[in-house]
Amino acid sequence: MLCRHCQRVQSNRPRGLCWSCYYTPGVRELYPSTSKFARRGVDDFNGQPRLPAQPTDALPGSPEKVAVLEERARLGVSLWHPLDAPMNAESRVLDAAG
Ligand SMILES: [Zn+2]
Repeated sequence: MLCRHCQRVQSNRPRGLCWSCYYTPGVRELYPSTSKFARRGVDDFNGQPRLPAQPTDALPGSPEKVAVLEERARLGVSLWHPLDAPMNAESRVLDAAG
């Protein structure tokens, strides 16, 4: 993760700041600590996730679907999309006929 202030170097101090920004007077105050209210280990992520831009027709459990889920997690969007392929594509047809 890059420094939240200068975005030029790797952050290696608390609050997502690099060493020089962290110790520059005034900069720290611009970036309140993330540790008090945010869950640790996850980028400050709150509220409803956005839907992925595209549904996938990769079947659940397939390597393709796993790759799609990884990509969605990386982008911080919802892991599912309403138009993703269902567990069994044929069941959708049967349900519709049903
Ligand atoms: Zn910096």
